[in-house]
Amino acid sequence: MMKTPAYAAADAASPLAPFTIDRREPGPHDVVIDILYCGVCHSDIHQARDEWGTSIFPMVPGHEIIGLVQQVGKKVDHWEVGDTVGVGCFVDSCRECEACRDGEEQFCEKGASFTYNSRERDGVTPTYGGYSTRIVVDESYVLKIPDSLPLDRAAPLLCAGITTYSPLRQFGVRAGDPIAVVGLGGLGHMAVKLAKGMGAHVTVLSHSPEKKNDALKLGADDFIVTRDPEVFVANAGRFSFILDTVSAQHDYNAYLNLLRRDGTLVLVGVPEPSPLAAWPLISGRRRIAGSLIGGIRETQEMLDFCAEHGIAADVEVIPIQRINEAFERTLKSDVRYRFVIDMASLK
Ligand code: NAP
Ligand code: ZN
Ligand code: ZN
Repeated sequence: MMKTPAYAAADAASPLAPFTIDRREPGPHDVVIDILYCGVCHSDIHQARDEWGTSIFPMVPGHEIIGLVQQVGKKVDHWEVGDTVGVGCFVDSCRECEACRDGEEQFCEKGASFTYNSRERDGVTPTYGGYSTRIVVDESYVLKIPDSLPLDRAAPLLCAGITTYSPLRQFGVRAGDPIAVVGLGGLGHMAVKLAKGMGAHVTVLSHSPEKKNDALKLGADDFIVTRDPEVFVANAGRFSFILDTVSAQHDYNAYLNLLRRDGTLVLVGVPEPSPLAAWPLISGRRRIAGSLIGGIRETQEMLDFCAEHGIAADVEVIPIQRINEAFERTLKSDVRYRFVIDMASLK
Protein backbone atom coordinates (compact mmCIF):
# COMPACT_ATOMS: atom_id res chain seq x y z
CA MET A 1 0.00 0.00 0.00
CA MET A 2 1.14 3.53 -0.74
CA LYS A 3 0.37 6.14 1.92
CA THR A 4 -1.09 9.15 0.11
CA PRO A 5 -2.02 12.58 1.49
CA ALA A 6 -5.61 13.63 0.80
CA TYR A 7 -8.47 15.79 2.03
CA ALA A 8 -11.55 14.00 3.29
CA ALA A 9 -14.97 14.62 4.78
CA ALA A 10 -15.30 12.52 7.96
CA ASP A 11 -19.10 12.73 7.82
CA ALA A 12 -21.87 14.77 6.19
CA ALA A 13 -21.59 17.61 8.70
CA SER A 14 -17.81 18.06 8.81
CA PRO A 15 -15.67 20.32 6.66
CA LEU A 16 -12.98 18.64 4.58
CA ALA A 17 -9.73 18.11 6.49
CA PRO A 18 -6.31 16.50 5.92
CA PHE A 19 -6.44 12.73 5.81
CA THR A 20 -4.13 9.91 4.70
CA ILE A 21 -5.35 7.17 2.39
CA ASP A 22 -3.80 3.93 1.15
CA ARG A 23 -3.49 3.58 -2.60
CA ARG A 24 -2.98 0.03 -3.86
CA GLU A 25 0.37 -1.02 -5.27
CA PRO A 26 -0.02 -1.00 -9.06
CA GLY A 27 -1.18 -4.27 -10.61
CA PRO A 28 -0.07 -5.36 -14.11
CA HIS A 29 -2.68 -3.16 -15.85
CA ASP A 30 -2.53 -0.17 -13.50
CA VAL A 31 -0.99 3.24 -13.90
CA VAL A 32 0.05 5.36 -10.95
CA ILE A 33 -0.79 9.01 -11.57
CA ASP A 34 0.83 11.95 -9.82
CA ILE A 35 -2.12 14.35 -9.55
CA LEU A 36 -1.40 17.94 -10.62
CA TYR A 37 -4.90 19.43 -10.63
CA CYS A 38 -8.39 18.42 -9.57
CA GLY A 39 -11.55 20.36 -10.38
CA VAL A 40 -14.25 21.00 -7.79
CA CYS A 41 -17.61 19.74 -9.07
CA HIS A 42 -20.93 20.54 -7.42
CA SER A 43 -21.42 16.75 -7.16
CA ASP A 44 -18.49 16.76 -4.71
CA ILE A 45 -20.56 19.01 -2.45
CA HIS A 46 -23.81 17.02 -2.87
CA GLN A 47 -21.98 13.83 -1.90
CA ALA A 48 -19.70 15.21 0.84
CA ARG A 49 -22.91 16.48 2.48
CA ASP A 50 -24.81 13.25 1.76
CA GLU A 51 -27.50 15.09 -0.19
CA TRP A 52 -28.15 12.01 -2.33
CA GLY A 53 -28.31 9.66 0.67
CA THR A 54 -25.63 7.34 -0.75
CA SER A 55 -22.48 8.62 0.90
CA ILE A 56 -19.63 6.46 2.14
CA PHE A 57 -17.42 8.14 4.79
CA PRO A 58 -14.67 9.07 5.15
CA MET A 59 -14.95 10.53 1.63
CA VAL A 60 -12.17 11.92 -0.55
CA PRO A 61 -14.04 13.71 -3.37
CA GLY A 62 -12.72 14.75 -6.76
CA HIS A 63 -13.35 13.39 -10.26
CA GLU A 64 -11.81 16.00 -12.52
CA ILE A 65 -8.25 14.74 -12.32
CA ILE A 66 -5.23 15.75 -14.37
CA GLY A 67 -1.81 14.32 -13.70
CA LEU A 68 1.37 12.72 -14.95
CA VAL A 69 1.96 9.00 -15.24
CA GLN A 70 4.47 8.17 -12.51
CA GLN A 71 4.67 4.40 -12.83
CA VAL A 72 3.12 1.72 -15.04
CA GLY A 73 2.28 -1.93 -14.40
CA LYS A 74 4.09 -4.66 -16.36
CA LYS A 75 1.31 -5.22 -18.88
CA VAL A 76 0.34 -1.60 -19.51
CA ASP A 77 0.26 -0.97 -23.27
CA HIS A 78 -1.05 2.53 -23.74
CA TRP A 79 0.82 4.71 -21.30
CA GLU A 80 4.37 5.65 -20.48
CA VAL A 81 5.92 7.38 -17.51
CA GLY A 82 5.59 11.14 -18.01
CA ASP A 83 2.37 11.06 -20.11
CA THR A 84 -0.19 13.75 -19.29
CA VAL A 85 -3.42 11.99 -18.47
CA GLY A 86 -6.88 12.50 -17.03
CA VAL A 87 -9.28 10.52 -14.88
CA GLY A 88 -12.97 11.36 -14.82
CA CYS A 89 -15.98 10.14 -12.88
CA PHE A 90 -15.37 6.38 -12.95
CA VAL A 91 -12.29 4.18 -12.61
CA ASP A 92 -13.64 0.76 -13.54
CA SER A 93 -16.72 -1.19 -14.64
CA CYS A 94 -17.63 -4.84 -15.38
CA ARG A 95 -16.42 -4.62 -19.03
CA GLU A 96 -18.89 -7.37 -20.05
CA CYS A 97 -22.43 -5.98 -19.94
CA GLU A 98 -24.13 -4.33 -22.90
CA ALA A 99 -23.41 -0.82 -21.61
CA CYS A 100 -19.71 -1.57 -21.14
CA ARG A 101 -19.50 -3.22 -24.56
CA ASP A 102 -21.17 -0.14 -26.07
CA GLY A 103 -18.57 2.14 -24.47
CA GLU A 104 -21.17 3.59 -22.08
CA GLU A 105 -19.37 2.37 -18.96
CA GLN A 106 -21.10 4.96 -16.76
CA PHE A 107 -24.29 2.88 -17.21
CA CYS A 108 -22.60 -0.44 -16.38
CA GLU A 109 -25.36 -2.89 -15.47
CA LYS A 110 -23.31 -4.22 -12.56
CA GLY A 111 -22.63 -0.67 -11.39
CA ALA A 112 -19.56 1.29 -12.46
CA SER A 113 -16.84 1.88 -9.89
CA PHE A 114 -17.08 5.63 -9.59
CA THR A 115 -13.93 7.55 -8.79
CA TYR A 116 -15.00 8.22 -5.20
CA ASN A 117 -17.91 7.41 -2.92
CA SER A 118 -18.12 4.02 -4.61
CA ARG A 119 -16.52 0.56 -4.48
CA GLU A 120 -13.81 -1.18 -6.43
CA ARG A 121 -14.84 -4.28 -8.42
CA ASP A 122 -14.50 -6.39 -5.27
CA GLY A 123 -17.63 -4.62 -4.04
CA VAL A 124 -15.91 -3.81 -0.75
CA THR A 125 -12.94 -1.48 -1.10
CA PRO A 126 -14.04 2.15 -1.10
CA THR A 127 -12.80 4.40 -3.89
CA TYR A 128 -11.11 7.70 -3.08
CA GLY A 129 -11.00 10.61 -5.50
CA GLY A 130 -8.73 13.33 -6.72
CA TYR A 131 -8.43 15.55 -3.65
CA SER A 132 -5.19 13.65 -3.09
CA THR A 133 -1.67 13.59 -4.48
CA ARG A 134 -1.90 10.37 -6.50
CA ILE A 135 -4.31 7.77 -7.79
CA VAL A 136 -3.92 4.23 -9.14
CA VAL A 137 -6.20 3.41 -12.07
CA ASP A 138 -6.58 0.62 -14.61
CA GLU A 139 -5.11 1.83 -17.90
CA SER A 140 -8.40 1.40 -19.79
CA TYR A 141 -10.07 4.09 -17.66
CA VAL A 142 -7.42 6.74 -18.25
CA LEU A 143 -7.76 9.58 -20.80
CA LYS A 144 -5.10 11.23 -22.91
CA ILE A 145 -4.85 14.98 -22.47
CA PRO A 146 -3.96 16.64 -25.79
CA ASP A 147 -0.73 18.66 -25.61
CA SER A 148 -2.32 21.99 -26.51
CA LEU A 149 -4.68 22.09 -23.51
CA PRO A 150 -3.56 24.08 -20.43
CA LEU A 151 -3.55 21.53 -17.61
CA ASP A 152 -5.37 23.48 -14.89
CA ARG A 153 -8.07 24.52 -17.36
CA ALA A 154 -8.36 20.97 -18.73
CA ALA A 155 -9.24 19.38 -15.37
CA PRO A 156 -12.94 20.40 -15.45
CA LEU A 157 -13.33 18.77 -18.87
CA LEU A 158 -13.21 15.37 -17.16
CA CYS A 159 -16.65 15.90 -15.63
CA ALA A 160 -18.18 19.27 -16.56
CA GLY A 161 -16.89 18.93 -20.13
CA ILE A 162 -18.11 15.41 -20.87
CA THR A 163 -21.40 15.86 -18.98
CA THR A 164 -22.36 18.69 -21.32
CA TYR A 165 -20.68 17.42 -24.51
CA SER A 166 -22.42 14.04 -24.36
CA PRO A 167 -26.05 15.24 -24.40
CA LEU A 168 -25.27 17.86 -27.06
CA ARG A 169 -24.05 14.98 -29.26
CA GLN A 170 -26.51 12.27 -28.19
CA PHE A 171 -29.53 14.52 -28.77
CA GLY A 172 -28.16 15.65 -32.12
CA VAL A 173 -27.60 19.37 -31.60
CA ARG A 174 -26.46 20.88 -34.91
CA ALA A 175 -25.04 24.11 -36.26
CA GLY A 176 -27.67 26.84 -36.25
CA ASP A 177 -29.99 25.12 -33.75
CA PRO A 178 -31.54 27.54 -31.25
CA ILE A 179 -30.63 26.01 -27.91
CA ALA A 180 -30.51 27.16 -24.29
CA VAL A 181 -28.32 26.36 -21.31
CA VAL A 182 -29.89 26.76 -17.87
CA GLY A 183 -27.46 27.78 -15.10
CA LEU A 184 -24.06 29.33 -15.79
CA GLY A 185 -21.85 27.37 -13.41
CA GLY A 186 -19.14 24.77 -13.99
CA LEU A 187 -21.28 22.63 -16.28
CA GLY A 188 -23.17 25.54 -17.80
CA HIS A 189 -20.16 27.53 -18.91
CA MET A 190 -18.69 24.41 -20.56
CA ALA A 191 -22.03 23.78 -22.27
CA VAL A 192 -21.90 27.29 -23.76
CA LYS A 193 -18.37 26.82 -25.09
CA LEU A 194 -19.01 23.32 -26.46
CA ALA A 195 -22.35 24.18 -28.06
CA LYS A 196 -20.77 27.24 -29.70
CA GLY A 197 -17.95 24.96 -30.89
CA MET A 198 -20.66 22.87 -32.58
CA GLY A 199 -22.12 25.99 -34.16
CA ALA A 200 -25.39 26.20 -32.21
CA HIS A 201 -27.15 29.49 -31.41
CA VAL A 202 -26.84 29.57 -27.63
CA THR A 203 -28.96 31.40 -25.06
CA VAL A 204 -28.09 31.32 -21.36
CA LEU A 205 -30.97 31.22 -18.87
CA SER A 206 -29.60 32.36 -15.52
CA HIS A 207 -30.87 33.52 -12.16
CA SER A 208 -27.75 35.72 -11.77
CA PRO A 209 -28.12 39.00 -13.73
CA GLU A 210 -24.47 39.90 -13.01
CA LYS A 211 -23.29 37.01 -15.20
CA LYS A 212 -24.56 38.60 -18.43
CA ASN A 213 -21.25 40.04 -19.66
CA ASP A 214 -19.43 36.83 -18.83
CA ALA A 215 -22.01 34.78 -20.71
CA LEU A 216 -21.57 36.88 -23.83
CA LYS A 217 -17.76 36.73 -23.50
CA LEU A 218 -17.97 32.94 -23.19
CA GLY A 219 -19.67 33.01 -26.58
CA ALA A 220 -23.39 33.01 -25.77
CA ASP A 221 -25.58 34.78 -28.31
CA ASP A 222 -28.21 35.81 -25.80
CA PHE A 223 -28.73 35.99 -22.03
CA ILE A 224 -32.05 35.86 -20.18
CA VAL A 225 -32.52 36.44 -16.46
CA THR A 226 -35.05 33.91 -15.18
CA ARG A 227 -36.10 35.83 -12.06
CA ASP A 228 -38.90 37.61 -13.92
CA PRO A 229 -41.75 35.15 -14.69
CA GLU A 230 -42.63 37.29 -17.73
CA VAL A 231 -39.58 35.96 -19.62
CA PHE A 232 -41.18 32.50 -19.68
CA VAL A 233 -44.11 33.98 -21.61
CA ALA A 234 -41.99 36.15 -23.91
CA ASN A 235 -39.69 33.24 -24.89
CA ALA A 236 -42.28 30.43 -25.11
CA GLY A 237 -41.59 27.94 -27.92
CA ARG A 238 -38.19 29.36 -28.75
CA PHE A 239 -35.66 26.52 -28.32
CA SER A 240 -35.19 23.12 -29.95
CA PHE A 241 -33.07 21.86 -27.05
CA ILE A 242 -32.45 22.98 -23.47
CA LEU A 243 -29.67 21.67 -21.23
CA ASP A 244 -30.56 22.15 -17.56
CA THR A 245 -27.47 22.22 -15.32
CA VAL A 246 -29.08 23.76 -12.23
CA SER A 247 -28.05 22.22 -8.90
CA ALA A 248 -30.97 23.61 -6.84
CA GLN A 249 -34.69 22.80 -6.99
CA HIS A 250 -36.63 24.67 -9.71
CA ASP A 251 -39.74 24.37 -11.86
CA TYR A 252 -39.07 22.16 -14.91
CA ASN A 253 -42.53 22.92 -16.33
CA ALA A 254 -41.63 26.55 -16.89
CA TYR A 255 -38.59 25.53 -18.93
CA LEU A 256 -40.56 22.93 -20.94
CA ASN A 257 -42.76 25.76 -22.19
CA LEU A 258 -39.70 27.41 -23.75
CA LEU A 259 -39.30 24.43 -26.11
CA ARG A 260 -40.52 24.27 -29.68
CA ARG A 261 -42.69 21.42 -30.87
CA ASP A 262 -40.69 18.16 -30.48
CA GLY A 263 -38.03 19.96 -28.45
CA THR A 264 -36.13 18.22 -25.65
CA LEU A 265 -35.24 19.35 -22.15
CA VAL A 266 -32.24 17.37 -20.89
CA LEU A 267 -31.54 17.35 -17.17
CA VAL A 268 -27.98 16.96 -15.98
CA GLY A 269 -28.28 18.88 -12.69
CA VAL A 270 -29.30 16.72 -9.72
CA PRO A 271 -31.35 18.86 -7.32
CA GLU A 272 -34.09 17.77 -4.91
CA PRO A 273 -37.11 16.30 -6.75
CA SER A 274 -39.59 18.69 -8.33
CA PRO A 275 -43.10 17.97 -9.71
CA LEU A 276 -43.65 17.53 -13.43
CA ALA A 277 -46.93 18.43 -15.14
CA ALA A 278 -48.29 16.58 -18.18
CA TRP A 279 -49.56 19.58 -20.13
CA PRO A 280 -46.24 21.27 -20.99
CA LEU A 281 -45.11 17.92 -22.47
CA ILE A 282 -48.34 17.03 -24.28
CA SER A 283 -48.99 20.42 -25.78
CA GLY A 284 -45.86 20.46 -27.91
CA ARG A 285 -44.98 16.75 -28.07
CA ARG A 286 -42.03 17.83 -26.00
CA ARG A 287 -39.64 15.50 -24.25
CA ILE A 288 -37.75 15.50 -21.00
CA ALA A 289 -34.64 13.36 -20.64
CA GLY A 290 -31.52 12.96 -18.55
CA SER A 291 -27.86 12.31 -19.17
CA LEU A 292 -24.99 11.00 -17.05
CA ILE A 293 -21.39 12.04 -17.82
CA GLY A 294 -20.18 9.98 -20.83
CA GLY A 295 -18.19 6.84 -21.64
CA ILE A 296 -14.43 6.63 -22.05
CA ARG A 297 -14.55 6.74 -25.84
CA GLU A 298 -16.81 9.80 -25.90
CA THR A 299 -14.73 11.51 -23.19
CA GLN A 300 -11.62 11.13 -25.35
CA GLU A 301 -13.60 12.46 -28.32
CA MET A 302 -14.60 15.50 -26.23
CA LEU A 303 -10.99 16.16 -25.15
CA ASP A 304 -9.86 16.02 -28.77
CA PHE A 305 -12.76 18.29 -29.79
CA CYS A 306 -11.66 20.81 -27.13
CA ALA A 307 -8.07 20.73 -28.39
CA GLU A 308 -9.25 21.23 -31.96
CA HIS A 309 -11.49 24.16 -31.04
CA GLY A 310 -9.24 25.74 -28.39
CA ILE A 311 -11.78 25.09 -25.64
CA ALA A 312 -10.92 24.81 -21.92
CA ALA A 313 -12.64 25.77 -18.68
CA ASP A 314 -12.45 29.20 -17.04
CA VAL A 315 -10.94 28.41 -13.68
CA GLU A 316 -9.99 29.85 -10.33
CA VAL A 317 -6.99 27.87 -9.09
CA ILE A 318 -6.84 27.37 -5.31
CA PRO A 319 -4.62 25.58 -2.82
CA ILE A 320 -6.41 22.64 -1.19
CA GLN A 321 -6.40 24.46 2.14
CA ARG A 322 -9.16 26.69 0.68
CA ILE A 323 -11.46 23.86 -0.35
CA ASN A 324 -14.15 24.52 2.27
CA GLU A 325 -14.37 28.16 1.22
CA ALA A 326 -14.62 27.01 -2.42
CA PHE A 327 -17.59 24.77 -1.50
CA GLU A 328 -19.35 27.72 0.18
CA ARG A 329 -18.76 30.01 -2.79
CA THR A 330 -19.94 27.37 -5.25
CA LEU A 331 -23.17 27.05 -3.26
CA LYS A 332 -23.70 30.80 -3.69
CA SER A 333 -23.14 30.53 -7.49
CA ASP A 334 -20.03 32.63 -6.82
CA VAL A 335 -17.52 30.79 -9.00
CA ARG A 336 -16.06 31.96 -12.32
CA TYR A 337 -16.54 29.21 -13.43
CA ARG A 338 -14.77 26.27 -11.84
CA PHE A 339 -12.53 25.98 -8.81
CA VAL A 340 -9.50 23.83 -9.54
CA ILE A 341 -7.18 22.61 -6.79
CA ASP A 342 -3.46 22.94 -7.42
CA MET A 343 -2.26 19.72 -5.81
CA ALA A 344 1.23 21.12 -5.27
CA SER A 345 -0.36 22.60 -2.13
CA LEU A 346 -0.63 19.10 -0.64
CA LYS A 347 2.83 17.82 -1.55
P1 NAP B 1 -22.35 24.89 -10.17
O1 NAP B 1 -21.03 25.26 -10.72
O2 NAP B 1 -22.67 25.18 -8.77
O3 NAP B 1 -23.46 25.51 -11.15
C1 NAP B 1 -24.83 25.36 -10.90
C2 NAP B 1 -25.55 26.59 -11.43
O4 NAP B 1 -26.94 26.43 -11.16
C3 NAP B 1 -25.17 27.89 -10.73
O5 NAP B 1 -24.02 28.49 -11.25
C4 NAP B 1 -26.39 28.74 -10.98
O6 NAP B 1 -26.34 29.32 -12.28
C5 NAP B 1 -27.51 27.71 -10.99
N1 NAP B 1 -28.22 27.75 -9.70
C6 NAP B 1 -27.70 27.49 -8.48
N2 NAP B 1 -28.61 27.68 -7.53
C7 NAP B 1 -29.73 28.05 -8.15
C8 NAP B 1 -31.03 28.39 -7.71
N3 NAP B 1 -31.35 28.37 -6.40
N4 NAP B 1 -31.96 28.70 -8.63
C9 NAP B 1 -31.63 28.72 -9.94
N5 NAP B 1 -30.42 28.44 -10.40
C10 NAP B 1 -29.48 28.11 -9.53
O7 NAP B 1 -22.58 23.31 -10.31
P2 NAP B 1 -22.04 22.29 -11.42
O8 NAP B 1 -20.77 21.69 -10.94
O9 NAP B 1 -22.12 22.91 -12.75
O10 NAP B 1 -23.13 21.13 -11.29
C11 NAP B 1 -24.48 21.41 -11.59
C12 NAP B 1 -25.35 20.21 -11.26
O11 NAP B 1 -25.03 19.13 -12.16
C13 NAP B 1 -25.14 19.64 -9.85
O12 NAP B 1 -26.40 19.23 -9.36
C14 NAP B 1 -24.24 18.44 -10.09
O13 NAP B 1 -24.35 17.46 -9.10
C15 NAP B 1 -24.78 17.95 -11.40
N6 NAP B 1 -23.87 17.11 -12.19
C16 NAP B 1 -24.43 16.14 -12.93
C17 NAP B 1 -23.65 15.35 -13.74
C18 NAP B 1 -24.28 14.32 -14.62
O14 NAP B 1 -23.57 13.47 -15.15
N7 NAP B 1 -25.57 14.37 -14.85
C19 NAP B 1 -22.27 15.55 -13.78
C20 NAP B 1 -21.73 16.59 -13.02
C21 NAP B 1 -22.53 17.37 -12.22
P3 NAP B 1 -26.85 30.85 -12.50
O15 NAP B 1 -26.13 31.66 -11.47
O16 NAP B 1 -26.44 31.16 -13.89
O17 NAP B 1 -28.34 30.80 -12.34
ZN1 ZN C 1 -18.75 16.10 -11.49
ZN1 ZN D 1 -20.66 -3.31 -17.27
